[in-house]
Amino acid sequence: MTAETLVYKAGSIGQPTQLAASRCPHCARVQFPSTASCPACSLPSDDLWLAGPAKLVFATKILAEPPDSLVAAPYGVGVAEFPEGIRVIGLLDDPPPAVGDAVVPVVHQPAVNLVTFAFRREADQI
Ligand SMILES: [Zn+2]
Repeated sequence: MTAETLVYKAGSIGQPTQLAASRCPHCARVQFPSTASCPACSLPSDDLWLAGPAKLVFATKILAEPPDSLVAAPYGVGVAEFPEGIRVIGLLDDPPPAVGDAVVPVVHQPAVNLVTFAFRREADQI
């Protein structure tokens, strides 16, 4: 077992992905990243994959680039509200979606040694 938590399904850069969440079968609490047991009632959780579309409910700009950045500042960060009942913070793809847009998670590489996910406007999907 590695110390790294799987937070999205691995895939090619720029392709749609799904976020690894979990749902408690007892109280229906949704967690992201996924947890083995519910933090509210301690019962085992079920896997739940978040594919979107989600609604972007907040967006802002980051003004400083991380080390070995492949994205130019300013770049976007936002919060997406999934229909499963959870809000997830993440990077925003370029062109950045606006608050209110439908977004989907895609595999994203913001720095040389960092691959993660970002939110892309659903309408920009190829
Ligand atoms: Zn629970």
